[in-house]
Amino acid sequence: MKKDNKKRDLGREVNVSTKVKTDKSKTKVNGGVFIYTGAISVSELSTALNISSSEIIKYLFLKGKMITINSILDDELIGEICLEFGYDFQKKVIVEAENFEELVIDDDPSKLKERPPVVTIMGHVDHGKTTLIDAIRNSNLVDAEVGGISQEIGAYQKEINGQKITFIDTPGHEAFTAMRSRGASVTDIVVLVVAADDGVMPQTIEAIDHAKAAGVPIIVAINKIDKPGADPERVKTELMQHDVISEDYGGDVITVNISAKKKQNIEGLLEAILIVSEMAELKANPDRYAMGTVLEASLDKFEGPKATLLVQNGTLKSGDFLVVGTSYGKARRMTNEHNKVVNEATPSTPVSVIGLSEVPEAGDRFMAFKDESEAKTIATRRKQIKEAKLKSKTSALSLDDLYNRINEGNIHNINLIIKADSTGSAEAVKASLEKLTTDDIKINVIRATAGGITESDVLLAAASNAIIYGFNVRPDAHTKAKAQEEKVEIRLHRIIYALIEEIQAAMKGLLKPVMVEKTLGQAEVRKLYKVSKLGTIGGCMVIEGVIKAKSNIKVLRDGVIIYEGKLASLQREKDAVKEVKSGFECGLLIENFNDIKEGDIIEASEISEEKPDGE
Ligand code: GDP
Repeated sequence: MKKDNKKRDLGREVNVSTKVKTDKSKTKVNGGVFIYTGAISVSELSTALNISSSEIIKYLFLKGKMITINSILDDELIGEICLEFGYDFQKKVIVEAENFEELVIDDDPSKLKERPPVVTIMGHVDHGKTTLIDAIRNSNLVDAEVGGISQEIGAYQKEINGQKITFIDTPGHEAFTAMRSRGASVTDIVVLVVAADDGVMPQTIEAIDHAKAAGVPIIVAINKIDKPGADPERVKTELMQHDVISEDYGGDVITVNISAKKKQNIEGLLEAILIVSEMAELKANPDRYAMGTVLEASLDKFEGPKATLLVQNGTLKSGDFLVVGTSYGKARRMTNEHNKVVNEATPSTPVSVIGLSEVPEAGDRFMAFKDESEAKTIATRRKQIKEAKLKSKTSALSLDDLYNRINEGNIHNINLIIKADSTGSAEAVKASLEKLTTDDIKINVIRATAGGITESDVLLAAASNAIIYGFNVRPDAHTKAKAQEEKVEIRLHRIIYALIEEIQAAMKGLLKPVMVEKTLGQAEVRKLYKVSKLGTIGGCMVIEGVIKAKSNIKVLRDGVIIYEGKLASLQREKDAVKEVKSGFECGLLIENFNDIKEGDIIEASEISEEKPDGE
């Protein structure tokens, strides 16, 4: 195998499968699947399988085949040699070992075993997520271990009816989204906590959006049923408006009434999780080298880098060599949430590991390898790739990408987030856009709500590869910066028709340069000066970009456009000026508009003939 084609036997298994077991394989403890893409030489195969070339040559010689170290082996011989030396084999397009996130594991179904579900708890603030997590964590009634969890490692397992459930410890959708925006998906089931006395609230809806965008089933835990004002039926009715339809209303979402505080019906909730888990048929192959995701990581004063790894496939054994993110190391010591040393972690098991060379990041993927030098080479290469990528970071999905990918015929879903000035227009935009769905391309509006564009929208977009469309609303400077950082595209429109036309053009793969309005900058109104003959002058601070005297302007209040027009004058310390840059104060007067208020944002723009960049 040529060194430069990065082909490695990624799918090696801890146990040699019986199908390929031969006498010789008994001496090879770690056989596995040799994945290759085409004809290779004897010496390349010997390196890849870690068998000496002379052994291969001897084997073929005894079969009456004369070959040398440089002879090229065809598929048949590769297969024969693999089987002889205790490896299964598979010919396929190579996924570079450096790229193991992309690896599609194609396990033999007979090797797959059921694995516990991984559950994240979400819901509106104060609806009882933390209380529920604690209630589950410390409940002994269903747990073989006495005395709850003793080590916080970011996740823990509970056992009910002999079946395990893995809970992610960080409630809320922030961690969930952060993982997804890094391309990692760890959650199989979302438990949506809704307080029975409060009902569906904004973060309840956000959590629903996130779960749906990730395609993860929801179980609704209607909490605080011990409270006098508890009204579970109202919660169910409210949820229906967000397409979460409970079983009693003919839908397929299980709802469970609980009291996290009084520890009522926690068992019922766990049983519901098992039901959903069973339907989802969650499986993994425990007989392969482990792969999974970092849930959290830190630098321990005494033990060095420490990380909680969630094993998602395979089995992690202590002593295995690991590539985690861009670092490598050895799973020197593994402990579970009870601070007990464990020697192996099977699929869906969270385990705290020490022995890594660096502290990885939450959301980093890891993979175990047989030998240290391989892990080291792959980690080094991943670091180089990451650095190269950082230099040329491209957007999650820009409109340009969309055009290109549609042209190439390799996009079938367009994910959009719609933010509008009212719920009515958000719904109207959503409905009009969804109508554009064709046989080839589906328009998915993953969120359509009223209000300015916020960081939460950007995070959802980053996680779901979505484009954000603002309809008569704007992001603030902070959200814009976040969007830039996450490379999320925000498109702003004022006319539904223009918005629809743009998406239609994208779907047809046409990118027309158009006259566009380019945002120049934003200023925040900090003080008002009423001047009798002139009107109200806004004492402003330019917080982003530049404001020009000839700019078109929009007045934004809470992210919503309340006025559009032109500046009548722009001043710095009583002198009229042509422009004022970010970080400077200015006074401005808007033509025919005096109703500015402190806290308003004045956004300046000009018409440009460039390619669209947001309007
Ligand atoms: P989080 O913000 O969603 O994590 O909510 P918390 O778990 O911090 O709970 C918020 C408040 O609700 C706390 O004062 C809890 O004691 C209370 N709470 C949580 N669950 C229940 C419950 O089942 N019944 C009652 N009465 N109060 C609860």
